[in-house]
Amino acid sequence: DTKTTKTRLDALRVEIERRNPAQPEFHQAVHEVLDTLAPVLAARPEYAEPGLIERLCEPERQVIFRVPWQDDKGHVHVNRGFRVEFNSALGPYKGGLRFHPSVNLGIIKFLGFEQIFKNALTGLGIGGGKGGSDFDPHGRSDAEIMRFCQSFMTELYRHIGEHTDVPAGDIGVGGREIGYLFGQYRRITNRWEAGVLTGKGAGWGGSAIRPEATGYGSVLFAAAMLRERGEDLEGQTAVVSGSGNVAIYTVEKLLALGANPLTCSDSSGYVVDDKGIDVDLLKQVKEVERGRISDYAERRGASARFVPGGRVWDVPGDVALPSATQNELDENDAATLVRNGVKAVAEGANMPTTPEAVHLFQRAGVAFGPGKAANAGGVAVSALEMAQNHARTAWSPARVEEELAHIMGDIHTTCHETAERYGASGDYVTGANIAGFERVADAMLAQGV
Ligand code: GLU
Repeated sequence: DTKTTKTRLDALRVEIERRNPAQPEFHQAVHEVLDTLAPVLAARPEYAEPGLIERLCEPERQVIFRVPWQDDKGHVHVNRGFRVEFNSALGPYKGGLRFHPSVNLGIIKFLGFEQIFKNALTGLGIGGGKGGSDFDPHGRSDAEIMRFCQSFMTELYRHIGEHTDVPAGDIGVGGREIGYLFGQYRRITNRWEAGVLTGKGAGWGGSAIRPEATGYGSVLFAAAMLRERGEDLEGQTAVVSGSGNVAIYTVEKLLALGANPLTCSDSSGYVVDDKGIDVDLLKQVKEVERGRISDYAERRGASARFVPGGRVWDVPGDVALPSATQNELDENDAATLVRNGVKAVAEGANMPTTPEAVHLFQRAGVAFGPGKAANAGGVAVSALEMAQNHARTAWSPARVEEELAHIMGDIHTTCHETAERYGASGDYVTGANIAGFERVADAMLAQGV
């Protein structure tokens, strides 16, 4: 029954934590999933088969490598590179690369673990993986970024391939970095293998709408959750954190659907703009000039102010879209948002909401869309990029956007129906975890040990 299954899952979690010391984010991600699986394991005996969960929680392969590179003054730096190939039951490992000083093995494992279920939810043929480096791109010249990417790929190339493992971007890795990485892969292998990386430039194998996809998708997911409750996104105010790729296109889509995005942030503080964020200025500051969010406030005029060191969650809004990084929204922030009347939260980033904050939202009756469902649009369009590369074709922006809208709608429906089926109506966390798990588990069982 569910109770014995719960006890077994708890014991398993403790064992996983013991075997993976000092990886708190990985523990958090594993706990979050195992916590919701008891009903499906109790209902479907094949899933309770010994070893299935153990296999799911152990990466198939983990690669750690040295990344030496020379800065513009000729000094040599050594960073650490990672690629965790977590699960390939549904397709080649798929997931981004993160370049950020906070990166370590535990962070990459948490992201890779999330990616398994997220990728399964897209309904497309992609397994789960993640990689990156503790390299800090902040303040580095273009030439330094290029040399770092080349050194990173000089090791990574032997582990990836269009049928094996297909990286893309994440924090600190955008179109520029994918370009340098692809160039080095092509030089080393003497292959024009478009499908080895996604997020490529539009003129050389990239998909239309890939830069926009994560942000657009999470807004579509928020809209679907509101619609489910008989509400409309149009006319609602939105609090957005972050000012990277996800946040920028979240703002763009909110504006396109008639909502009013009030905020953006970076590590130095946040901007609140009473007239709504001006997405063109935001792009100019962040994408073209690679500047700080405070520059936005300086240029925008009277409607906007910069709040140094503050948290966007103090700003009242109908919808919250945390789109910066993990654990950026805690219990206090959640309490503030609830007090200010938030109706829906959709995670644009990966695990931005702490477990305590998630529970608080759920207890308060706020619609909560977990990242593995809400931000799956990015990796979904990556899979569409792979499909286009394979067919040596390029789809129109309209076609890709239509596919993205369908996929996000399907993910919402799947999560909603799955939650209902397991007696957790309205609980998108349970729905996403169980639906993602079912798809991966079925493939793993069919393919044997
Ligand atoms: N880094 C993104 C994510 O967290 C995209 C991964 C991809 O496109 O492979 O899902």
